[in-house]
Amino acid sequence: MIIYFKKSSTRKERADLAALAAKLLPGASVTRGEAVKIKTPKPEKLADAAPVLENMPGVKRVKLSGRELCPRACAANRKPFSSPLDFTRRPVFIAGPCAVEDEKSYLATAMALKSAGAHALRAALFKPRSSPYAFQGIGWAGLKVISRAKKLTGLPLVTEVTDPRQVERLAAACDVLQVGARNMRNYELLKEAAGSGRAVLLKRGLRATLTEWLLSAEYLLAGGAKKVVLCERGDSLPGRPRLDLMTMAAARKLTGLPVIADPSHAAGDRRVAAALARRALGAGADGLLIEVSSNTRKARVDGRQTLSVDTFRDIAGT
Ligand code: PEP
Ligand code: MN
Repeated sequence: MIIYFKKSSTRKERADLAALAAKLLPGASVTRGEAVKIKTPKPEKLADAAPVLENMPGVKRVKLSGRELCPRACAANRKPFSSPLDFTRRPVFIAGPCAVEDEKSYLATAMALKSAGAHALRAALFKPRSSPYAFQGIGWAGLKVISRAKKLTGLPLVTEVTDPRQVERLAAACDVLQVGARNMRNYELLKEAAGSGRAVLLKRGLRATLTEWLLSAEYLLAGGAKKVVLCERGDSLPGRPRLDLMTMAAARKLTGLPVIADPSHAAGDRRVAAALARRALGAGADGLLIEVSSNTRKARVDGRQTLSVDTFRDIAGT
C-alpha cells in the first residue's frame, strides 16, 4: 500500500499518518519518504485500514495493488485443477441448453453432447430473467432430470444458483455452482456458495471491472471455496456483440485461475456465438460455457443464440 500526501500536508500530519498506519497494521513495515509505503504479511487487513488512513488530514490518495486487494485470487504458482472439470487438459467445454425445459429433450441433448466432446453439462433449473413474466426455469422439479442426465452420460453438472437458499440442495446434486453475471455482486450468495464445498464458476458481472470481478472471486476463496473458475461473458451491448478478451487474458495472467468464456450471451445469435467461441479459444480461453441443444427451434429461452450439436462438435474438434 502506498499513501500519497497533498502538497500542503504538514510534517505533523505525515508523522501522525505513519503512526496510525503502524497501529492499525501491527507487524507491517512502514517506510516514510515522499509517500508512505506499507508492506504487511497480512494483506487482507489493508482493505479495512485503507479508508481510515485515506480520511486523515494531509492525505491525497491511498493505493493498493491487485495482489493486496485480492491476495487469494492473485496467489502465485497456482496449479490447474483436474476435477470435477479437468483444466490440466484444456480447453474444457461446458455445454447444454440455456435452461433445462423438459426431460426428453434435455436427455437427448445431454447424450448428443457427450459424443460431441462436451466435458460437462449446463444444467440450469433457475433462471434470473429481466421480466418477471418470462420463463424462470423449471426449478426443483428438474433435479431428477439433471441427475438422470448425469447418470446417463457420466458428465458433471454445472448449475446456476440465484438465491443463497438454493445452495445446499443444488450442491448436493451438482458438481459446479454457477454464479451468473447479475449475481456477481450478490455478496451473500457468494459467501453461501463459497461454503458449499463445490467448485464455483463466477461470471464477470455486467460492466464489472477486472478488479470488481477478482474481488468477487476473493469472496469465494476467502469463504472456503477450493476451486474457482472465472467466466468472461461480455456486456451484451445491443447490436455490438463483444467478449472482453483483454480482460479475460488479464484475469488469467493475474490469478492463475482457469478463465473460460461464454460466447452465447454476448452474441444473441448463433452464428455470432460460434464466431465468438472460436475467437475466445484463439485468445487462450481455458474453456467455454456454451448454449447448445439438439432441438434449438423449441427452446423457450435464448434459442436464437443456441448452437446445434453439429456446430458445437465442430468447435470442440478444432
Ligand atoms: C446463463 O449462463 O444462463 C446466464 C444467465 O448467463 P449470464 O449470467 O451471463 O447472463
Ligand atoms: Mn441463456
